[in-house]
Amino acid sequence: MHGSLAIRNVEIDGQLDLDVSIRNGRIAEIGHRLPCADNDIDGRGGALIPGLHDHHCHLLAAAARAASVILDDVRNVDVLAARIMAAANARPAGAWIRATGCPAPLAELLDMRILDRCAPGHPLRICDRTGGLWVLNSLAMAVIDGAELPPCVERAADGNPTGRIWRGDAWLRSRVGNVPPPLAPIGKALSALGITGVTDASQSNDAGTAALLARSFRDGDLPQRLMLMSEAHLEAPADHAFAVGPAKILLDERDLPPVDDLGALITGARGRANRPVAIHCVTATELAVTLAAFEMAGTRKADRLEHGSVIPTSAIPVIAKLGLTVVTQPGFIHTHGDRYLAEVDPAEHDDLYRCATLFSAGIPVAGSSDAPYGGWDCWRSMRAAIERKTADGRSIGFEERIAPLAALGLFRGKASDPGGTPSRVEPGVPADLCLLDAPRAEVVQRPDAERVAATIIGGRIVYRR
Ligand SMILES: [Zn+2]
Repeated sequence: MHGSLAIRNVEIDGQLDLDVSIRNGRIAEIGHRLPCADNDIDGRGGALIPGLHDHHCHLLAAAARAASVILDDVRNVDVLAARIMAAANARPAGAWIRATGCPAPLAELLDMRILDRCAPGHPLRICDRTGGLWVLNSLAMAVIDGAELPPCVERAADGNPTGRIWRGDAWLRSRVGNVPPPLAPIGKALSALGITGVTDASQSNDAGTAALLARSFRDGDLPQRLMLMSEAHLEAPADHAFAVGPAKILLDERDLPPVDDLGALITGARGRANRPVAIHCVTATELAVTLAAFEMAGTRKADRLEHGSVIPTSAIPVIAKLGLTVVTQPGFIHTHGDRYLAEVDPAEHDDLYRCATLFSAGIPVAGSSDAPYGGWDCWRSMRAAIERKTADGRSIGFEERIAPLAALGLFRGKASDPGGTPSRVEPGVPADLCLLDAPRAEVVQRPDAERVAATIIGGRIVYRR
């Protein structure tokens, strides 16, 4: 069981020099000069705030990416070879190397012979950016060989495989075996950011992935509290290794359902448990169809619009009237902003990843990373929400700037009520806490992950600087 923990000399909501005592995973008492505990942390006057929550991410995809070699920025075979060789040197001989994001024109130049030179001692598979082409080296081909090779495996004139597999993703996965990527590096990275809970927004979550994530939670690899969205029915385990979140509906702009069908889908997705529904809304068209469908099907508390990447001014009062929450990614303004300025219709620039105008309309707004499509760093997202600056320093939607404390608040909502009443540091609540190295007012002026001094989940220290 948990020993007792005392965190001394901290600031809580502007009150200085407080001690917090923690027993059985919960905050037992807050006061001045509390008695000794099994374990003491000196807070040195820093703020103690509730642990942060990332309200939309994809854990297994992020773990797979973290375990892969990323080739997004590679333009020629020499650079690609150098990166693969570095990855091979960092792995035990015989371990798989999986590389993704290779630009398609470059991937098409690759074959088994070239990859053998990059990684002679490791099975290697490289995927192009579209996911349509995999290229394998000889050791990888030997692993998947054995059965009759299907037509997706390209052959040279002499009948031997070239190493290229076209649109054979599912077959390849069935041959390689689906070894889950390690989640411990993700758990560590989140802990260092002061994040004590995450909502996995993957529509594909099912009993299998839920069991895998629950195991990582129980093992301590992924100490963060988990809420899982899914399309499938999920049953929360008795030990609370994860909570069941909203039913997820993923729209595809190229194949949008008629409003009536989406309305019926919303009603059906709630199921017997009357789950809230979260709908992926990236484009203005997806948003329009979604709002019309919610008007038809009706809304309930905690129904959510995921991303809200483009919200035209006219949609704001409709979202407010329907009582929907927007779970957005202000960090994308920083990470992808320069690309948006180049590629998105200038008429839509002010509609991108709104915050301030949603707040003004009384719409609950919460923050998230959408990792691995965005970075995990919630502190950088807060800066982006405050400054609205791209990586190159250009401004997007200046009117959408929010105050520093509101930016922190994006990540302070409860998992079940993003953008709602923020959690507080008070007796009785689970001890999911983030200790900062300075008072809160100082930290929020320039939010930075460097300010996290310790992270505590359920009374257990999971990170200490
Ligand atoms: Zn997502």
